[in-house]
Amino acid sequence: MESKRLVVVSNRLPATLKKEDGEWTVKAGAGGLVTAMAPVLKNRGGVWIGWSGSSDPTIDVDALLSDFSDEAGYDLHTVPLTKEEVDGYYLGFSNEIIWPLFHDLQTRCKFDPQYWRTYLDVNFKFAEMVARKTTPDDYVWIQDYHLMHQAFFLKSMGVKRKTGFFLHIPFPPPDIFMKLPWRWKLIQALTEFDLVGFQTLQDRENFAECLRRLMPEAQFEGDGGVVTVDMGNHQFRLGAFPISIDFNQFSEIAKRPEVAEKAFSIKEALRHRKIILGVDRLDYTKGIPERIRSIQTMLRRYPDLKGRVNFVQIAVPSREEVDDYKELRTEIEQLVGRVNGEFSFPGWVPVHYHYKSFPHDELVAYYSAADIALITPLRDGMNLVAKEYCACNVTEDGVLVLSEFAGAAAQLQGEAYLVNPYDMEGIAKALHRAIHWEKDQRSAHMSKLRDQIRKNNIYWWVDSFLQAGISKSLGDFPEVAAMKYERG
Ligand code: UDP
Repeated sequence: MESKRLVVVSNRLPATLKKEDGEWTVKAGAGGLVTAMAPVLKNRGGVWIGWSGSSDPTIDVDALLSDFSDEAGYDLHTVPLTKEEVDGYYLGFSNEIIWPLFHDLQTRCKFDPQYWRTYLDVNFKFAEMVARKTTPDDYVWIQDYHLMHQAFFLKSMGVKRKTGFFLHIPFPPPDIFMKLPWRWKLIQALTEFDLVGFQTLQDRENFAECLRRLMPEAQFEGDGGVVTVDMGNHQFRLGAFPISIDFNQFSEIAKRPEVAEKAFSIKEALRHRKIILGVDRLDYTKGIPERIRSIQTMLRRYPDLKGRVNFVQIAVPSREEVDDYKELRTEIEQLVGRVNGEFSFPGWVPVHYHYKSFPHDELVAYYSAADIALITPLRDGMNLVAKEYCACNVTEDGVLVLSEFAGAAAQLQGEAYLVNPYDMEGIAKALHRAIHWEKDQRSAHMSKLRDQIRKNNIYWWVDSFLQAGISKSLGDFPEVAAMKYERG
């Protein structure tokens, strides 16, 4: 095995199994993380470890993945999970406890002790696979809240690895985290990584506060971007690394003539009225009902906007089998009906609602066509849609109206129009103002937003995490160091 490889470990592999014409095939994942990691893994002959997404025992997952590995240029190893394991560890502990709790929505948590036990069992299974497929020279980068016990189990097996962990979702303040019945064990497990990365300084501070309360022996050193924590018997690091997007990729797609044409035809279909756009997975953290109520408030408060604006909401289906998500979908559909029923007149329907996932180019066309992006999660680790909207606004005349509780607000606050997602009148007022902003004002803000995201893009994110993780220059990953951040 080659030394100093990068090993990425995540709940899902960067590939999904699909049945087409009765045959199973493997499709590459399309998210920003996959885009950013793929060249690094390829250059170093790296490894990605995760679950394939299927618990069907009749599929030969390894055979399917081996062809994919050959093409991708790095190895994929699947951690096989039974349906019961997926139910307890993924749907249960991860999505019914950690997801709502870490998004400040503790009343939605189902603190089932069985979920916790299965979470530990599955984390142990993952750690065994990591131990088998890696060497002490590898750097193991674990992704997200599904796998918080990896370093703990590796150490308890006596397996020495250099480990980094990145939390993609927020870390809650102590008054919320303390509600977790397994709070001590969980935070203790996190201290076993060599580096723990968060989206924002606030998340890092929340974690530090929880750690101070639960493990008073922790001593903090330094006050820069990355700090060291001394636990007495070992040290580890904490840092904030805001995740980002492949800015140039989005910007270039938006410039393609066929995409610009599609954007124009969206505007034309809506008769060149001002377009306010919302794009989210259909999730209760995204504040979609509150947003629709804000549109209703806006149309009641500012009758001059009737017939002059359209609100387009794209809601991507997510966790459709879960009751909370089914109920949310019904609530949203009823609200859309109510608002349209109240205000529509012949030739104008205020809210256009799409419950589906759009092809990438079409999504970019919607971003390009929108005059205002209305992104109002109740809480969000980062929110990449906010950054994608700016990257696609190549004409630099759009406005980003953004929730102050999205991680992205920490970076974009100077130039985005920040709102409280619970304040319907405040959002209505912000929209009314933004609609009346002059072109100069809009451009000044948007061009700064674009500069910031262009510079702090997804390649910068990978690089800054790995620099902090390996604590030397990127000489250990030479191909990465040679990579230009502003690639297309
Ligand atoms: N997205 C998508 N298809 C769509 C609409 C959105 O794949 O039809 C993508 C979008 O480009 C973005 C992601 O979904 O990259 C949403 O990421 P975000 O960080 O905003 O929220 P998350 O869903 O991760 O909570």
